[in-house]
Amino acid sequence: MTDLTRRTFIEAAGGVTALGTLGFPSLVLGATRRVVVIGGGVGGCTAAKYLRKLDPAISVTLIESKPTYTSCFMSNEVLSGERTLDTLVFSYDGLRRYGVEVVQDTVVGVDPVAKNVQTAGGNSFGYDACIVSPGVGFKWDAIAGYGEQIANESIPHAWYAGPQTQLLRDQIEAMPEGGHVIIVAPPNPFKCPPGPYERASQIAMYCKHHKPRAKVSILDAKDAFSKQGLYTEGWTKLYGYGTDDSMIQWVSAAEGGAVEELDASTRTLIGLVEDFQADVINIIPPQKAGAIAFAADLVEGDWCPVDKRTFESSRHKGIYVLGDASSASRMPKSAYAANSQAKVAVAAIVAGFHDRAPDDPTFVNTCYSVVGEDFGISVAAVYSLDAATNMIEPIPGSGGVSPANASPEIRKREVSYAHSWFKNVINDMME
Ligand SMILES: Cc1cc2nc3c(=O)[nH]c(=O)nc-3n(C[C@H](O)[C@H](O)[C@H](O)COP(=O)(O)OP(=O)(O)OC[C@H]3O[C@@H](n4cnc5c(N)ncnc54)[C@H](O)[C@@H]3O)c2cc1C
Repeated sequence: MTDLTRRTFIEAAGGVTALGTLGFPSLVLGATRRVVVIGGGVGGCTAAKYLRKLDPAISVTLIESKPTYTSCFMSNEVLSGERTLDTLVFSYDGLRRYGVEVVQDTVVGVDPVAKNVQTAGGNSFGYDACIVSPGVGFKWDAIAGYGEQIANESIPHAWYAGPQTQLLRDQIEAMPEGGHVIIVAPPNPFKCPPGPYERASQIAMYCKHHKPRAKVSILDAKDAFSKQGLYTEGWTKLYGYGTDDSMIQWVSAAEGGAVEELDASTRTLIGLVEDFQADVINIIPPQKAGAIAFAADLVEGDWCPVDKRTFESSRHKGIYVLGDASSASRMPKSAYAANSQAKVAVAAIVAGFHDRAPDDPTFVNTCYSVVGEDFGISVAAVYSLDAATNMIEPIPGSGGVSPANASPEIRKREVSYAHSWFKNVINDMME
């Protein structure tokens, strides 16, 4: 994040008061600045909390459709039975303790001129700054025969953790020994680039003990994927990858992995080269920004362009788009990235309220994946902004992936790092 700490902020505010009514009349007269945050996920919660921490005089309203937050990160562990879904559910009470007003409603529109947000419940919230962090939406028409209703009832995407995660877990448990699970992996960009491959690993981890003749296939719309070398190493060591008996099979796009159509009645996926039949199918659809980003005219193509110094929308002033919905290349769409972007946006908003220019941002991302028992891998980077290209670039030498052929101790340690990262990010965003 930027170096705007609470101390430097208070110093800045002191300077503001000294300037008198000329520069900052509203502050001197005690007017409250209002920030409305749309979406109580990683980006939205982190932003709401840090706004209140940085300047308790700011009135912060967080509007979220659901009564509680269910974390997607670690939800693949529900599929292996390593954890239950309820361990991923968190209350917004922690944010309320910071003085955030949490409203359960769905935002249906944002008026960037009148500066207000409208909800499905018929309410309107005025703002001085608006933060939008709605996550991803799905391109339901990308695979013929697939759709929202089928996803809810029988062929889950489980790419938002919740009832579909439980449905997928139940289907895997009910699958006969020797059964076949297919995961359809989406094209780039999508949320959590290593996620489909961690999912295959977690399902294989369960099957290894309970259905050792089962197969897990990944049908991919791509020819390469995140942490591929490390996954390949883990799959080879744990699941016989590369042999005829491999529990995991990865079919790249070039090998015919791209899927065009689903025949749900026979659980068959129709590919460009061949068809694939399975006992359990998990389709992770191609993705785009969440619906409110489209309704609020924040999107170009599928994602929301932003000024990467502040995460302010390139389309509408005073609106900041964070997390998965934003175009933040070359940061991945991850929880850690959303958390980091939220702090940068908050610092910029508070600086703007005090007529200060935003500082130069830095960002951080680490993404752990649990490939099997005592086998964790990770990728990490610290990023800065290349002002010339408006691209967020990894700082050379700042990160990388965990070492190849690492010792069992290192692999085991990465699993405990993954679990402690999970606790830390939840704590940082909402507790
Ligand atoms: C299986 C899986 C594993 C993952 N593992 C990791 C991991 O290990 N590490 C990592 O860093 N990331 C991981 N991720 C990615 C991570 O979950 C997302 O990148 C992150 O949640 C993005 O945060 P966000 O704020 O952009 O969106 P979200 O956290 O998805 O939050 C969006 C919120 O906005 C709400 N919302 C949307 N529209 C509206 C509206 N109109 N009105 C009101 N509310 C609205 C939604 O209900 C939701 O609560 C994983 C994802 C998946 C699917």
